[in-house]
Amino acid sequence: MSTSFSLRQLRLRPGEEHREALEVELPSFEFGGQRYIPVPEQVDAQLTVTRATTGTVLKLALTAMLHGPCYRCLGDAVLEVPVAVREYQDAAPVDEELTTPYLVDDRLDVSAWARDAVALALPDKILCRPDCAGLCPTCGKNLNEEPHTHEEHEADPRWAALEALRDQR
Ligand SMILES: [Zn+2]
Ligand SMILES: [Zn+2]
Repeated sequence: MSTSFSLRQLRLRPGEEHREALEVELPSFEFGGQRYIPVPEQVDAQLTVTRATTGTVLKLALTAMLHGPCYRCLGDAVLEVPVAVREYQDAAPVDEELTTPYLVDDRLDVSAWARDAVALALPDKILCRPDCAGLCPTCGKNLNEEPHTHEEHEADPRWAALEALRDQR
């Protein structure tokens, strides 16, 4: 499912602006090998269409909430992704720079545009919280729930050898 919006019905004159409140269907995201699901899948968005003398300016603003695993501890992470993006469609485009790929035959693919905008706004790592302690590299337990350290020599065979020597005295 996807959300689209027809510009044909607007019949804007140069200088006129139309604002539309939309519910945009967002797909889930594949990121760093994990899946992130928008909750809700229908995101409130504000679309603004402004007719200029030479073309149309399109603006889209929304805030997506993505749910998925934390990069460090694999616990539940909820990420708020606000986006505010803009596209331009020239009335008589001379090259592709002046067109938007989301507009085909006066129909704007709002879902595709929103999906790309959110994907571009994602951080390098999605975390459950900025200071997530992650998983213990030694035992794999969640360091947020059970903060702990391991005695260095537990895993170090050289200590075992030293202790064996000491026991012999
Ligand atoms: Zn985490
Ligand atoms: Zn541990």
